Order: sequence, then C-alpha cells, then structure tokens
Amino acid sequence: MVRVVVAGGGWAGCAAALAAAKAGAQVQLLERTDMLLGTGLVGGIYRNNGRYTAAEEATAMGGGDLFVAMDANARHRGISFPGHSHASLYDVSAMEPLVKKVLVNYGITVRTTTRVMDVLKYGRTIQALVIDSGEVVKGDVFVDTTGTAGPMGNCLKYGNGCAMCILRCPSFGPRVSVSARAQVKEIMGLKADGTYGAMSGSCKLNKDSLSAEIRERLEREGAVVIPMPEHLVKSTSLGRKACSQYAIPEYAANLVLLDTGHAKLMTSFFPLEELRTVPGLENARYEDPYAGGQGNSVRYLGIAPCGNNLKVDAVDNLFCGGEKAGIFVGHTEAIVTGLLAGHNAVT
Ligand SMILES: Cc1cc2nc3c(=O)[nH]c(=O)nc-3n(C[C@H](O)[C@H](O)[C@H](O)COP(=O)(O)OP(=O)(O)OC[C@H]3O[C@@H](n4cnc5c(N)ncnc54)[C@H](O)[C@@H]3O)c2cc1C
Repeated sequence: MVRVVVAGGGWAGCAAALAAAKAGAQVQLLERTDMLLGTGLVGGIYRNNGRYTAAEEATAMGGGDLFVAMDANARHRGISFPGHSHASLYDVSAMEPLVKKVLVNYGITVRTTTRVMDVLKYGRTIQALVIDSGEVVKGDVFVDTTGTAGPMGNCLKYGNGCAMCILRCPSFGPRVSVSARAQVKEIMGLKADGTYGAMSGSCKLNKDSLSAEIRERLEREGAVVIPMPEHLVKSTSLGRKACSQYAIPEYAANLVLLDTGHAKLMTSFFPLEELRTVPGLENARYEDPYAGGQGNSVRYLGIAPCGNNLKVDAVDNLFCGGEKAGIFVGHTEAIVTGLLAGHNAVT
C-alpha cells in the first residue's frame, strides 16, 4: 500500500488526503494547529459563479465528499451580491468537525498540533518529514498543502503587521513550507503595483455586535448591502485584495455583509472607529482577524513551481495543492487542486 503524507490540513490538504485514500493509499494528514481547514475556518462563500461548475465537475468525477459536507452545513444557498451570483455560504463555526468526521471515516490518520519542521531527502526524493516533536514521519509520496498565508514575519513585512487572525501563528508556530525545506525555489505573488503578496479580502464581525435590524436581515437574506457614507469611500484599498471579484467599485461604494455564522464584512480591513460611524454598526467588533481595524493576513508569498499534474519541480515524490500550487484564491480552488494532487500522488 502506498504511504502518502499530506502536510497542511486546510481545504487543499483535506481534499488531497481524501483523494489519496480513495485511490487506495494509507494516508496521514499533518496539521500545525488544533483544527483542520486553515483559512477555510473563515470565509464560507462557495458555489458562486464558475465555482458552481467546478464543484459539480469534482462531484461527477468522484470527489464530491467535501462539497456534500459544505452543502449539508450551508446557512444560505443561491444568493447574489456584488460580483457573486448564486453563491452558497457555509457555516464557518460548524464546518471543521464535519470535515474531520468525513476524513476519519475514510480511514485517514488526522494528526493536529503536528507541525512539519523539515524534510529528510536523498537526491531528488523525500524520504520523511520531521515534525516538531522530533518524530520522523516516513512516506512514499508527499503532498505540500501548507498554504501561503502568513506567517507573522510576512504579515509584518508585506502587510500592516500581525492582525491576529485564524492562523494563530504565535500559538502554534509559523507556517513551514515542505517545498522550501526540500530546497525548491518558491515563487512570490506580485500585485499590480509591484508589491508582494495580497491581503485577504474580508473580515468577520461579531454578529451580536450589529444592530438587531441588520442582524435579522442578514440571517433572513444572507447578504446586506449598506451604502458607504460619503466620507468613508476608499477605493484605494481594492488593489490590496487577493480576490478580483471583490476588487470592483461596488465594494468601495458599499459595505457588504454576509451571514456565514459570523458577519463577513467584504473588505480587507476597516478602521474600527470609522466603521462605527455607519448606522447599525455603532457597537461593531471584529472576530477575525481580531485587529481587522488595522490589517489582515498576507498570502501568496510561497508558491511551489509545479506542472499541470501538480508535481513539484525538481522533487520526484512531492505534489502540491491549494494556494501552494498557484494563485488560487478560494476554498473551491483549494479543494479541486487538492483532489488532483492527492489522486496523482497515488496513481
Ligand atoms: C479571511 C479570509 C476569507 C476568505 N474567504 C473566502 C471565501 O469566502 N470563499 C473562498 O472560496 N475562499 C475564501 N478565502 C480563501 C480561501 O480560504 C483559501 O484560498 C483556501 O481555503 C486556501 O486553502 P489551502 O488549503 O491552500 O491553504 P490554507 O487554508 O492556508 O491551509 C494551509 C494549512 O497548512 C497548515 N500548515 C502550514 N504549515 C504547516 C506545517 N509546517 N505543518 C503542518 N501544517 C502546516 C496551516 O495551519 C493551514 O491549516 C478566504 C481567505 C481568508 C484568509
């Protein structure tokens, strides 16, 4: 039986583990923090625009388990808001335990609070990963799904500092890239203005901190669009965003809130005192990142060069998926590339 070790338990790693297990491998999934899903612990938008097709195609090809789990946990289906048609929103608070159950049911060994620190490599072949306890985890094929978000040093250098986000780097230790440890020269994403990385395009507000009227509308309709008071219109922040579907004028002219369990605010960050001048948001407070008034996590600073089959260049038994594999900006993209990497790792 082929032994596949997947490093990084975001959506891409979960999908890679699943596809490898379904292809007959013995699979271990190693995750740095105490929860799976990585940046998928926030977010929640899926099935919008072409992502609907991607989800349906993945399902038709036998990789639908994670989309079935998302659909079972959706708070809203088929809603539209600027730049997004027929979107579904999963409940970010309830998603992770469900995904873990799916993986365990497929016989995958899921190891949380297990951070990969290094690789043992012979020539062009990785033999094992070394985790933070010093344990050596051997395998035949490896998948790097460690993402590109953070760590704190990158958010300090390329963003506005650590915004205390869901990645929780100070508690669980910063992201470590398997590809980089295997001496692969990684690619850094560039924005249009020539600066590196991109900020996440949304923050989460505590729903209870919104006015009762906004909260009720949000829960009923899934999305609330509030025209931005004139003095707060800031179109210049759009270019910082990772997602082009948010970088449209509607997001400078309006505050867009979505019900994902939290109130997802579709802007990279927004000074709290200014936000509180918007009617209904007088008591607003951030849930993720906690310093959402100041900044957000920075992504795309460690992409592994790879071919269409998602095998990492210059290493014979390393595949990659999700943001690690390119400038893929969403849960759906992470899942479909993760599925491909996990499947190709075995077949
Ligand atoms: C605030 C925010 C909101 C978003 N909203 C949406 C949305 O609504 N819809 C959407 O489609 N997309 C959204 N996205 C983007 C989406 O979350 C990501 O593109 C996608 O989930 C990335 O998945 P990934 O698995 O490639 O990487 P990640 O989610 O970054 O996962 C990488 C995982 O690897 C782990 N890891 C890192 N290093 C190690 C190591 N050395 N050992 C073990 N584990 C390690 C990390 O802890 C993490 O769990 C959002 C992103 C953010 C940050």
